[in-house]
Amino acid sequence: MPNRMSKFVPRDEGVFVRTGHFLDRLKEGHRAPLEEHIGDVLETGKVTRGGYREDRWVVTKNIEGVEVRIICGFTEAFDPALVTIYGRVPDREKALESGYWDEWVVNAFALSQVLSKEDGPEEGELEGYVLSEPMEMKGHRIITEEDEPFVRCVDCGMEAMFKNTIGRVDCEE
Ligand SMILES: [Zn+2]
Repeated sequence: MPNRMSKFVPRDEGVFVRTGHFLDRLKEGHRAPLEEHIGDVLETGKVTRGGYREDRWVVTKNIEGVEVRIICGFTEAFDPALVTIYGRVPDREKALESGYWDEWVVNAFALSQVLSKEDGPEEGELEGYVLSEPMEMKGHRIITEEDEPFVRCVDCGMEAMFKNTIGRVDCEE
């Protein structure tokens, strides 16, 4: 059953301001394919609390095996705002079988999810997500290779297993 709040949050894409952060994230290659789904997700997606910030909510919808997640909040002027957007991969097989999403896109979302885990990837977990073309993450362009338990930036050579670690180091090409 949908929660009661889901009736009160704005559902029309047109009322939302796109924050600079949102626009920057959407420019990242693996997130760009999400853009055409924004209106549909906001209108028909499932609404939940925004996690660690009380003034935020999340709208999610599973599209062909990828769970599209839009974080919503407010601007300083109290207008509804789109804060960020990303994909999660609850079922990689299904996402790939659908043929809708590019394998690189599915792997990029799955990898990002694994790197965001508090305890980091489990042993062998990263090996499953080979990224031959780099994805943008926290200012770096990262890839993974077969059998490597970390990701590497193709510009600065940094190796990491956590998204937080990646964000702490500036990329020096
Ligand atoms: Zn780098």
